[in-house]
Amino acid sequence: MSMDRVYNFAPGPSMLPLEVLERAQKELLCYGSTGMSVMEMSHRSKMYLEIFNKTVADLREVMNVPENYKIMFVQGGATAMFSAVAMNLMDGGKADYVDSGNFAHNALEEAKKYGEVVVAGSSREDHYTHIPAYTLSADAKYVHITTNNTIYGTRWDHIPQTGDVPLVADMSSNILSEVYDVSKFGVIYAGAQKNVAPAGVVILIVREDLMGHELPITPKVMNFKKMADADSMLNTPNCFGIYLAGLNFEWIKAQGGVKTLEKINIEKANLLYDFLDNSQLFKGTACARDRSRMNVTFVTGSADLDAQFVKEAAAQGLVNLKGHRIVGGMRASIYNAMPIEGVRALVSFMKDFETHNK
Ligand SMILES: *Cc1c(COP(=O)(O)O)cnc(C)c1O
Repeated sequence: MSMDRVYNFAPGPSMLPLEVLERAQKELLCYGSTGMSVMEMSHRSKMYLEIFNKTVADLREVMNVPENYKIMFVQGGATAMFSAVAMNLMDGGKADYVDSGNFAHNALEEAKKYGEVVVAGSSREDHYTHIPAYTLSADAKYVHITTNNTIYGTRWDHIPQTGDVPLVADMSSNILSEVYDVSKFGVIYAGAQKNVAPAGVVILIVREDLMGHELPITPKVMNFKKMADADSMLNTPNCFGIYLAGLNFEWIKAQGGVKTLEKINIEKANLLYDFLDNSQLFKGTACARDRSRMNVTFVTGSADLDAQFVKEAAAQGLVNLKGHRIVGGMRASIYNAMPIEGVRALVSFMKDFETHNK
């Protein structure tokens, strides 16, 4: 690592690739020959539209998004999408939600305001340590899942078969970390601050036939059809955040694409889980089958020792390892931007800590 940068294991906002930051730094004061920063450009200007259109095209390429899907960059976080999905798709019917974590639960609670929510499966009683079994309704307007559960460190190891019922996925914490077949989904959304860009941008991918069925109360900026028709510019978009997302997509391409990153992400996660499985002190908290490759949750069994670990790790430049406030313990978020050296450094520190605190 250059300068005095640390290995930042934060869950989001989180680490960005150093190359992306350096490129942004280089272009910060003067982008190309424009004589201005991207922050200062009109979103309608030719130069900005070039950046925007390239960003959309690069995302289409790295995720292999079919032509009959619109790619949008919207605002309000993934949280706004909890409402937007229901307002655009519920259409007077009901929807199946799989309750696999805190965000999944928030999504279904929000959707209840706009239609009938069926909880198709839930692991809430088990503190969300696994992806629940589920039963889908044949007549649902859509099925909603959360592909990676950021707080509890679990991941769906399969894509549910929903037949003609559109599948909606909150991919906030694992988008672009593994290959997904976009054609299996009706809607994909993701807050950018976990694996793509700074906070304030949401990636929204919607199959065209699912647009235009929104409830009349749907705000304009949450209306999939209107936002798609306006090319994400019904209002002023997060221009600089979208530009940074674009730099990240270019970085992904330079790494060899999502497929290559997926391989590295599996290797990174295995390093940590193999250590946890053999440790006398640390213990992983997620059920082995459903373990996340992005958020690795673990404990020592003692809250005091957990706190000591987080503190001593930070002193070694391994920061933000404290677990989410509602679960405690530790969580190492190892998104695309976390180099494997960071994970090695963490495992090595954990070994040391174990030796001294067994
Ligand atoms: C972080 C996160 C959210 C919330 O995102 P905001 O952008 O803060 O609204 C929703 N879902 C998942 C899976 C997340 O990880």
